[in-house]
Amino acid sequence: MLESLGPVLVKYPEFTEAKIIERICEPERQLIFRVPWQDDRGVVHINRGFRVQFNSALGPYKGGLRFHPSVYLGIIKFLGFEQIFKNSLTGLPIGGAKGGSDFDPKGKSDSEVMRFCQSFMLELWRIIGEHTDVPAGDIGVGGREIGFLFGQYKRLTNKFEAGVLTGKGLVYGGSQVRTEATGYGCTYFVNEMLASKKNGFKGKKVLVSGSGNVAIYTLEKVHQLGGKVVAMSDSNGVIHDEKGINLETIKQLKEVERRRIKEYCDSHKSARYIPNGNIWDIPCDVAFPSATENEITGKDAKKLVKNGCIAVGEGANMPTTPEGVHVFIQAGILYGPGKAANAGGVATSGLEMQQNASREAWGFEETDIKLQQIMRNVYVLCSEAAEEFGAPGNFVVGANIAGFIKVARAMIAHGIV
Ligand code: NDP
Repeated sequence: MLESLGPVLVKYPEFTEAKIIERICEPERQLIFRVPWQDDRGVVHINRGFRVQFNSALGPYKGGLRFHPSVYLGIIKFLGFEQIFKNSLTGLPIGGAKGGSDFDPKGKSDSEVMRFCQSFMLELWRIIGEHTDVPAGDIGVGGREIGFLFGQYKRLTNKFEAGVLTGKGLVYGGSQVRTEATGYGCTYFVNEMLASKKNGFKGKKVLVSGSGNVAIYTLEKVHQLGGKVVAMSDSNGVIHDEKGINLETIKQLKEVERRRIKEYCDSHKSARYIPNGNIWDIPCDVAFPSATENEITGKDAKKLVKNGCIAVGEGANMPTTPEGVHVFIQAGILYGPGKAANAGGVATSGLEMQQNASREAWGFEETDIKLQQIMRNVYVLCSEAAEEFGAPGNFVVGANIAGFIKVARAMIAHGIV
């Protein structure tokens, strides 16, 4: 990030004078708290909760909650830092934050997840609010968890404050397209990159890592645009089917039954399961890393390029290591960094906040058109910034610069705070 900003600091010395870099790297506030809860057998467990309110120059803090055993303060801080610039790129009035817990929802009953969410909210509610900080989902936090969190917030505050959380169910203030938004948005972003080269998804062979929220709706949109997803994964292994992965089976397996991806092969005989496999070994035209951070190493990136991959869209946050990013940039392939490519999720959360504030509920198509427009704008912003600062076609530089300048200007306007 800082490497990209060098030319910006030369052009705008006032940013250096106001110590914007030093200030922006320091979160405005960080909360770490104990989350005690009881499992179905009555055994007591203790987890750790986090919320890092990183930057509120553009609007209320905004960013997801992650429930995964790997969560610690460092992960929440890097995600919160990225979120500042991603949110800025959407053009919506939202600041940057992130939160979560080292709680693992996998294998827990609905009642256990509910008790955990209620205990988590018993601390978090003090620092959130529709004008203060608006959390959403991320890894391990989907519609079920947001529902439990919202129910507890409502009970604690005695207010139906719909705008305090996004990713809500449609029956109580959620937005159409929010569930689909990150995957759809990422596909729209890659489609823009392909279109700039007079290319498109038709007939393209595609890899999508993960099989959670982002991965599932990337699969859906890629298939709608004429591409074919031939492999997906979870943390245990990879499924590969050259005939294409079936969307309905994946949805049933992952969204309804919450099972493992290897069970896909039980009903699809042309698919093979590769335990602990590396999805990036499979040749493809387009790759969508959509599971977690650092999943594409320098070696993986080299393999993808060698196998003929022409575009990468990061559905996940920082899924490519710095060595991998270097390989993609050097090879000159179309590379959409997460900060830009996966901004559709938070953008649609912003649209959910707008609907909550005006007590409206827009239709699916209307919301999807707005999402497409936002992703096109993000693409144009990144593209123009990259061009202006001497790195045409480099969306890493473009996204970092375009996201940063707006936040820096707002911080200067607010004085030394
Ligand atoms: P989900 O929990 O719905 O799905 C995560 C998927 O990634 C699962 O298939 C999971 O497999 C796999 N995964 C998670 N952690 C690991 C790991 N350490 N190693 C291997 N596989 C792993 O999360 P989302 O789809 O919501 O999020 C995926 C990524 O997208 C994250 O990086 C998130 O930050 C990013 N993102 C999400 C947004 C959203 O709107 N949801 C918005 C913007 C970015 P398993 O089930 O085996 O754990």
